[in-house]
Amino acid sequence: MEIVRITKRHFLTFVDGLIGERRFKVIGPVDALGGRYSFEPLDATASLRLDYDETSLSPRKFLLPPRDPLLTYTTGDPESYMPVFDNRLRCIIGIHPGDLTAIALYDKAYAADGVDDQYRVRRRNTLLIGLYPTRAWKYRFTSSMIDPVDCYRTADLMMVDLGDDSLALEIVTEAGRTLLAGSEAHSADQATIETMNARKNAIPDEVALPIDRLNLPAALAGQERHATFKTRGDKCFSCGSCVQVCPTCICFDVRDKVDLTLNTGIRYRTWDGCTLQNFATVAGGHNFRKTPADRLQHRLFRKTVYMKERYGITGCVGCGRCTRACTADIASIVEMVGDIVGTGGGHA
Ligand code: SF4
Ligand code: SF4
Repeated sequence: MEIVRITKRHFLTFVDGLIGERRFKVIGPVDALGGRYSFEPLDATASLRLDYDETSLSPRKFLLPPRDPLLTYTTGDPESYMPVFDNRLRCIIGIHPGDLTAIALYDKAYAADGVDDQYRVRRRNTLLIGLYPTRAWKYRFTSSMIDPVDCYRTADLMMVDLGDDSLALEIVTEAGRTLLAGSEAHSADQATIETMNARKNAIPDEVALPIDRLNLPAALAGQERHATFKTRGDKCFSCGSCVQVCPTCICFDVRDKVDLTLNTGIRYRTWDGCTLQNFATVAGGHNFRKTPADRLQHRLFRKTVYMKERYGITGCVGCGRCTRACTADIASIVEMVGDIVGTGGGHA
């Protein structure tokens, strides 16, 4: 893989050029609320914060929007439906390895079998520039959860802060190479490559899963009724915060909105999540996960076992957002696994 080096000043000039061209919608982390970071469209790099700890939401909201139009139609005319595609070109800058791995999961779940053209079109039109974290975050345990190879399935470029006034960029795809053409990036020498490799792990996680992730299926086998689900479930508000913030939550509901004249309508999907009370309610009003304990159990197993089995990619990328977002302080994947394997989980 080719490695180039660019000064931070030249990188910002390059991004300002992309913004000015208006060919892409350029998106990156900004300080949205006094130290709470958020991926947002950029008007200029003055607001870009590559030194962010973690964003409240991952870039999921740009690839799988919370309200995603699927088709329009005229009521009473089954031939009238028209699929809706989002063809805008996007470039998302500064995505941490965990969030890139979550996008690899979307690629498997939404695009691999060709059944979801809305996702496929949006993904095809989106360039991704990854970034190894430049600041610690007390909830992150990504190193425990991801195979680092998976973030290279989705990134077009991967950035590493070299700890001085420069960045190293790994050119992962031809689209990434084309994007960089005309920038002030130059081939990296051997010393830069060695610094880059060392700096990838410059910010160690403060939290660790208490067991090797490869042992999760065996460790959780037969633990569906473990007491931790009842103990935690008794405190759960079923508010859904944990699933709203999760980069790997890909479940959705489909709804119709018909206009006031009742002549036309739009069908769209919205985020749904397995800790919400009615997520598992089916025809006849039967809810097959009635209690919060049932829902927490399902969430843990889906994140740590089922998604990996089905898609080959972890369902939890260790971002730690659910731990911070939980209104009852019970959603931590690390703590739940720790309860089950008898270590209590927690800080490395
Ligand atoms: S389950 Fe929690 S830690 Fe894991 S990816 Fe989702 S939000 Fe992040
Ligand atoms: S955020 Fe916490 S309280 Fe809310 S549904 Fe998730 S586990 Fe329950």
